[in-house]
Amino acid sequence: MHILLVEDDALLADGLARALRHSGYIVDTANDGLSADSLLANEAYDLVILDIGLPGLDGCEVLQRLRVRRQQTPVLVLSARLAVEERVRLLDLGADDYVVKPVTQAELEARVRALIRRRLGEASPEVVLGSLRLDTVGKRAWLNDTALELNAREWAALEFLAGRVNRIVSKEQLIQALYSWQDEITPNAIEKLVSRLRVKLEEAGITIRTVRGLGYYLEKPADAAARDE
Ligand code: CA
Repeated sequence: MHILLVEDDALLADGLARALRHSGYIVDTANDGLSADSLLANEAYDLVILDIGLPGLDGCEVLQRLRVRRQQTPVLVLSARLAVEERVRLLDLGADDYVVKPVTQAELEARVRALIRRRLGEASPEVVLGSLRLDTVGKRAWLNDTALELNAREWAALEFLAGRVNRIVSKEQLIQALYSWQDEITPNAIEKLVSRLRVKLEEAGITIRTVRGLGYYLEKPADAAARDE
C-alpha cells in the first residue's frame, strides 16, 4: 500500500514515515501543499495523510483540488484540535476521516487500516480466498494453517491483488502501489515478483493470470475450481 504523508513538521513527518514504513507501507512524503498537490496529480496513492496547516497551499486547498480532479484517494486529515464547524467543512470537502494531534502511532495506523479496508470494500481485516487467508492487520498470509513466507514486497503485491480479485491490475499500478517514486525499478522487477508469488500460491490453488499487454489478475479460487471440474 502506497501512502503519501503530507506534513511540514519535519520531526513529526520523519517519525510517522519511519513507523509506517516499519509496518510495511510504502511512504512518500511532502512538506508543503504545492508539492503534495503535484505528487497527487501524478502518482496513484492508496491513501493520503494530510496536515491542514501547510506552507504554499493549505491542506483544505490540496483536498479540494484532489476532489475537483475526481480522484477518490482516501484522505485522512491530520490536524490540531478542530472546532466542530471545521471538522464538518473538512468532511464536506471530501476528507474521509481525521486524527487530532498529538497523534499516537497506534491510532493513526488503525485509522489507516480502516480507510484502506473501506476502500477495498472489506468490512473485516481478514481476507479469505479459498484456502488462502490474509490478515491485513498483522500483514501475514496463511495457506490453511501454514504461514506463508513472504517478504514485504511480496506481501504488498499479494494484498494489492487480493483486494482486486478478478480485476486486471497493470504493471504500472503495481509499481505505484509497491514502490516509492524515488525507488529505482528494473523493468522486469514486477515480473520476477509475480513469478515468486505464483510459486508460493500454487499449493493453495490460487492463480495469478497474466493478460498480455494489460497486466495481471488474481483469479477467484471458486472460478478456478469450477473450470477444473
Ligand atoms: Ca502543519
